[in-house]
Amino acid sequence: MFQRVLIANRGEIACRVMATCRRLGVDTVAVHSDADAGAKHVAMADAAVRIGLAPAAESYLNGERIIAAALETGAEAIHPGYGFLSENPDFVERVAAAGLVFIGPSAAAIRAMGLKDAAKALMAEAGVPVVPGYHGAEQDPGYLAEQAALIGYPVLIKAVAGGGGKGMRRVGHPRDFAAALASARREAQGAFGNEAMLVEKYVTAPRHIEIQVFGDGFGDAVHLFERDCSLQRRHQKVIEEAPAPGMTPVMREAMGEAAVRAAQAIGYSGAGTVEFIVDGSRALHPDGFWFMEMNTRLQVEHPVTEAITGVDLVEWQLRVAAGEPLPLRQEALAISGHAFEARLYAEDPARDFLPAIGTLTHLAFPPGVRVDAGIRAGDAISPWYDPMIAKLIVHGPTRATALGALARALEASRVAGSVTNLGFLARLARQADFVAGRVDTGLIERNIDALTPPAARDAGLLAVAAIAAEGLEACADPLAGFALWAPLRRQVVLEAEGERQTVALEVRGPGRFLAAGQEVAVDRCEGGELACRIDGVARRFGLARAGRSLTIFEGAEAHGLRRPDPLAGAGEVQGSGDEIRAPMPGLVRHLAVETGAQVAAGDVLVVLEAMKMEHALTAPRDGTVAEVAVAAGQQVTEGTVMIRLGSQDD
Ligand code: ADP
Ligand code: ADP
Ligand code: MG
Repeated sequence: MFQRVLIANRGEIACRVMATCRRLGVDTVAVHSDADAGAKHVAMADAAVRIGLAPAAESYLNGERIIAAALETGAEAIHPGYGFLSENPDFVERVAAAGLVFIGPSAAAIRAMGLKDAAKALMAEAGVPVVPGYHGAEQDPGYLAEQAALIGYPVLIKAVAGGGGKGMRRVGHPRDFAAALASARREAQGAFGNEAMLVEKYVTAPRHIEIQVFGDGFGDAVHLFERDCSLQRRHQKVIEEAPAPGMTPVMREAMGEAAVRAAQAIGYSGAGTVEFIVDGSRALHPDGFWFMEMNTRLQVEHPVTEAITGVDLVEWQLRVAAGEPLPLRQEALAISGHAFEARLYAEDPARDFLPAIGTLTHLAFPPGVRVDAGIRAGDAISPWYDPMIAKLIVHGPTRATALGALARALEASRVAGSVTNLGFLARLARQADFVAGRVDTGLIERNIDALTPPAARDAGLLAVAAIAAEGLEACADPLAGFALWAPLRRQVVLEAEGERQTVALEVRGPGRFLAAGQEVAVDRCEGGELACRIDGVARRFGLARAGRSLTIFEGAEAHGLRRPDPLAGAGEVQGSGDEIRAPMPGLVRHLAVETGAQVAAGDVLVVLEAMKMEHALTAPRDGTVAEVAVAAGQQVTEGTVMIRLGSQDD
């Protein structure tokens, strides 16, 4: 086994790899960009090396710098995690040339699977079923349209260099083919620098079922069963599970055998995933699955496989890379119980899942669930990288118990400081078709309205917010509310999403209130969790405070509120509230206000396009726009002042 390994990644996967290294007594070296100098993965490692500036191209994608860091710190091997350099064959070759071990497959294996067209051809040759379609070199639009007609609509146009669901278009009718092809090409050119496309049959009611494989690099390979990743949004996985609902022994055997054949065909070494698209229009059947692509790395959703097999996949990666044989043979591998993983992101489901940034002032998860996180309470989600907060993984004896545990874990998780997809995930975990195991890749889209309802703050919630804003919820103190000379009646001002509300609050006795017209009896309040009755109905809330911000949790919903600064209106404003700066380099897409406009806290001021997404920047407080310092269409660097706010009565 290695004595020292460098992890060429960040966030949850870097922390995940380090946890196994530590258990095996292997020293770890972290690398980090300037944006990550204080990150969790840096704190966890035995040694850390700064490798460059915040943009990934100048740090986590700088292979030379990472190899130099490994040599400087005496690491013998490099674990790439996923993303970044994990599927870059040139990097693999340079690692070997430097006398280091790459913990992953050979450059040749990565190349063989790197482009979807070549991979499909190779797999067809190896006798693995592939999705019917055209994956040849001819790229003339007219020719591709002819191929589409031969395949039969609906078809899927797919970038051969694609990944992360990009450069893909479903086309239902020949008249839409040309436009879809052109738009997929543009997206692929921008994202991968390669506009070549393949066209394949769009499988109806598709399910995404993938097989975890492991090769020893000498022709031996095993599979560790399947994961169902059908719950997707824009071709990106949201909740994954293992085993797949409705899986039969015959189907599993057929898929496992095909995946092992795929791995053996390229002399695969280490962890890999063979992704199949499966006909979900009827019960699973062994002639209803087709190869889509192979991911030649550890997958984000690998923990569900670990949960049901008891195998630590990172340990296997380290052992195989160190030249040991596969720890278990196929016959020794078995499935125990059922597991789910949910991906928690800083993103706003109500605004089409726009990625968000922010400092997570509060971050807590319930016991009994595996949490793979790369950030801690107090850490920031920066604009530079993927906005993942954590993965929640649950394991139970049956699918029903595990899914129930996932829903409860999501409902008991507390994140304040950024909008998240927690409420969306929790509703999804209780969605009837999902609960019944009727999954396909269209499930989320079909149910999107029910899964992303507008935030609702009822009178009961406002009542609790007002009590908490005044710090009166600690009912353990019988004199709370009476202890000070403070009046028994107060008007509590709260702001939410730019709207200001005044809540009448009256203290009626220890833990008893009349607030927002509701009778509130606080029965218990401990560690930020509060049990109360509102007009006789029992409800539970969580509370988190940070400065003037207050977050009220109920179930998996988080309601962010603010107590307006009474001084702000009197002309004394916090410096930070005066200037709206670009949080990241980007393009000014849209200016929503002009000089002199009156704005309320939460109003959109400017929309910035960065990371290929639009980010709306809002007013941190009420005020007047004193200056608009940028123009629409202008490119700005991080920190550029875009808008200056004046005080309200300017
Ligand atoms: P999976 O099927 O495992 O979700 P993806 O190909 O969608 O695989 O990507 C895996 C993960 O790697 C994603 O969640 C994403 O966060 C990360 N990732 C992919 N490409 C990059 C990149 N260039 N930089 C940083 N992270 C990346
Ligand atoms: P990526 O490299 O972006 O992960 P994939 O080829 O793995 O690309 O496809 C991503 C997703 O797109 C799949 O998980 C599935 O939901 C959908 N998809 C891909 N191919 C097909 C197909 N032929 N029919 C229906 N859906 C498909
Ligand atoms: Mg894929």
